[in-house]
Amino acid sequence: MLNLDKLRWIDDNIDEYQGILVRAENNAYAHRMHLLSNSLKVTEEITPRISSVIKKVLQHLSLLDIELECYVNNDSDMNASCFSLGNDVNLIIIISSGLVNTMTQDELAFVIGHEIGHYFFGHLDYAEVKREKNALLDMKLSRIYQSHEISADRIGLICSGSLESSLRAIVKTVSGLNDEFITHNLHTYLHQIQSLNYDDLAHAYYTHPIFPIRAKALTLFSMSEVYYLWTGKDKQAPLTEDSLIARIRKDLESTTMKNLKEESKHIVEKFQLWFYVKSFIDNNELEQDEILFLEKNFGVDTTKKALRLAKENTSSVTKKYEEFRNQVHHLPLQYKSLMVNDMKNALDSMLESHNVQRYFKNLTKSILG
Ligand SMILES: [Zn+2]
Repeated sequence: MLNLDKLRWIDDNIDEYQGILVRAENNAYAHRMHLLSNSLKVTEEITPRISSVIKKVLQHLSLLDIELECYVNNDSDMNASCFSLGNDVNLIIIISSGLVNTMTQDELAFVIGHEIGHYFFGHLDYAEVKREKNALLDMKLSRIYQSHEISADRIGLICSGSLESSLRAIVKTVSGLNDEFITHNLHTYLHQIQSLNYDDLAHAYYTHPIFPIRAKALTLFSMSEVYYLWTGKDKQAPLTEDSLIARIRKDLESTTMKNLKEESKHIVEKFQLWFYVKSFIDNNELEQDEILFLEKNFGVDTTKKALRLAKENTSSVTKKYEEFRNQVHHLPLQYKSLMVNDMKNALDSMLESHNVQRYFKNLTKSILG
C-alpha cells in the first residue's frame, strides 16, 4: 500500500484532540437508509462514467479492498461529503447532481479523491466537542478544518493527476459556473487571498473552509519536493519541504488565525485585568492601592475604562471575567504556567492577607490542576 500519510498537512500549532475534537458517535446506518431511499446509488449499469472515475481513483491510490458506495442526490448546489459505516462499508460518498453535471472526469476525480482523503486521514472519526461559544476555540477549530481540507486536497490532486483540473474543481465548487464561463487563467484566483483579512472575517466564518487558501496551498504543494517525489519527476522541485510549510503557515496566519502566541498574549492580558478588577470589587469598595496596581499593570486608560464598567454594572465584570477564563482554560499549559508566574510576581506587592491573594490561590489550583 502507498504511504499516503506522507502527504498529510499537519498544523503543529494545534493539538486537535485536546478538548476540541472527540471520537464521533454516528447514526451512519440511518443516514445510508435515507440515501438508498432518496438518491441514486452509483453503479456501472446506470452511471458508468462516475463509476469508472471511482474505479480509477481507487486503483490510483492502491485502495482496492476498500468498500465504497457513492450516491448522487438531486441538488443544483455543488457539494460533496462523506461518512464511514465502519466495517460494513468503509466509505460512503455523496455528490450533488450540480457537481456531476458541471465537472469533467478529472475534476470529478479530484472531488472523489478529496473525500477519500478525509476518510484515509481519519477526519471522519472525530466530531466537535459540544461547547459554549469561544473565540479562541473557534479559531483553533477553523485551523483544524483548514488543515483537513488542505490534506484532503492533496489526495484529490494525486487522483486527478492535474493541478489545473484540481483548481478548476475548486473554482467550480465556489462559483457554480461551468466551463463555458471559466478561462484557463486560474492562477489569478489565488490573488483573492490577498484581500482576506483575519480581523474582518466574522467569527461565524471561522469554521468554514476558505477556498483561496486551499487553492493556494494546493498550488504550492504541486511545486514541492514531496509532490515531485510522489509523482516521480526527476527535476529539482522549486519548494523544499521547509519552505512549503512556511508559505502555507504564513497564509493561514494572515487569514484564519493570528499567531497563537500573539493571540494568547491578548487573552492572558484581558483575563488578568478582569480577574483583578473582579477580586478587588468583590464585597469591597475599591481602594487607592488597588487602582494604582491596575494602572501600573494595564495603563491609565485601560484601568479607567474597566473601572467605569465596574461602576455601572458589576455583573458585566463577572461576565468579562468568565469569558476570558474560558479562553485561558484552552490555552496550552506552558502559557498558563507563565501567566500564573507573572501574576504571582505582580501580586507580591499586595498584602499577604489581601482578598486577591485568596482568589489567586484558588485560581492557580483551578488553572494548573
Ligand atoms: Zn473536504
